[in-house]
Parts: sequence; C-alpha cells; structure tokens
Amino acid sequence: MSELSKGLQHLQQRIRQTALTAHSNPDAVQIIAVSKLQSLEKLQAAYDLGIRHFGENYLQEAIGKITRLKNYPITWHFIGKIQSNKTRQIAEHFSWCHTLDQLKIAQRLNDQRPLYLTPLQVCIQVNIDNEPQKAGATVEETETLALSIQAFSNLQLRGLMCIPQAEASPTETQTSFYRLRKLLNQLQKHPQLQTLDTLSMGMSADLELAVAEGATFVRIGTALFGERHP
Ligand SMILES: *Cc1c(COP(=O)(O)O)cnc(C)c1O
Repeated sequence: MSELSKGLQHLQQRIRQTALTAHSNPDAVQIIAVSKLQSLEKLQAAYDLGIRHFGENYLQEAIGKITRLKNYPITWHFIGKIQSNKTRQIAEHFSWCHTLDQLKIAQRLNDQRPLYLTPLQVCIQVNIDNEPQKAGATVEETETLALSIQAFSNLQLRGLMCIPQAEASPTETQTSFYRLRKLLNQLQKHPQLQTLDTLSMGMSADLELAVAEGATFVRIGTALFGERHP
C-alpha cells in the first residue's frame, strides 16, 4: 500500500472514531485535501484514491494544476489569502472560497463570477480568537457581512471558516471551534441565513477537536501528503 493510501486510511479512521465518540455522523465530514506546494502526481494519486475536494492557497500554482486537471471532476476550494486584484481568478476557477472576510471582496467576486458557472460557494473566515494580525471578520461583524453576502446572486453563502490561534492548548483550540459552531447556530436563527450548513475547521494537527465540534469540512495537508516543499 502506498504512503498516501495509508495516510488517507489513517485520516478516515481518525475522523470516524472522533465522530462516533461525539455521537455525530462521520459521513457528514468532508475531507478537503490541501495540495498547496504538492506535486501534480500527488494530486492525481489522491484523486485515484477517491479524493474529489482539493484546497489551494496560491493562485498561480493553483491555476496551473486546475488547468492540467480540467477533465477531472474535482471540486476546487480556494483557502488562501485573497488579494483584491486577484479576485477574478478565484471567481473564474474555483467552486468554493473559504476566506471571504470583507464586503468589498464579496462584491468583486460576485461581479466577476462567470454567468455560465453556478454561484461561487463561500464561507466567511472569522478571526475567532481576535488575533491582531489574523485575517477574518470579527465575531461582531459577521452577521451583517453574512446578510450582505446573501444579497449577491452569484455567491452562495454556505457557512463559516476559522483558523484558531497557533500557540493554543487543545482545550483553547476546541473552545475556538465551539465558538465558531455557536456563531453559526446564532446566524441560522436569522430567516435569511437558515440555509447555512458549513463549518470549515480543522487541519492536520487539530482535526479531532474540530470534528468533535461539528466540522463539516476539514482541510488536511501534511497528514495526507506529508511535508510541503516550497
Ligand atoms: C495549509 C492550510 C491547511 C492545511 O494545513 P496542514 O496542517 O498541512 O493540514 C489548512 N487550511 C489552511 C487555510 C491552510 O492554509
């Protein structure tokens, strides 16, 4: 069995075990294989093992891969920092964007989404731990931003995403995931936001904590592909 195949099995086991312990449905958790700085061969190998969701951070690199794999039925997720002069490439090449945190960017993505594609599926990135340098909307501004995004016809708001503080204890990290879930539940009470169904949270090191708190997407790089090679 290949390293990748072992990695994937182990990952699926971690998700399954955690979901069962938390009395939730393991099948409700979708793996996004984070393939930034990984070779095209590794992506193809992951595809051959059944992976259909891939996440990329760097546009130039991502578009190269998307173009070369254009005949594969892959769902591409943009999970990197959004520069406002690069929104068109996101709008044209991706199915999902997880890192939306400003109205101005939402407006651009909406205007630039080609009409022959289905609406861009978006998550609001929330700066859940209020870190000074971190991207993301504040908890306080998320509802207003969510309602504005719902008004755009070429975007479909699906939920929330976060990256908790790096130097936190497991308990603190789990609390951050819990707070993101509570925020989603709060938004879902609003008549216009009832259809939100996505929590994009959990990476290689903390996926159990995220799954225990109801993650629907986990974004996994190194636990699947091994170390990245910049
Ligand atoms: C790189 C990255 C990941 C994957 O991180 P790993 O620790 O390798 O699993 C997940 N989410 C985002 C936003 C990333 O930038």
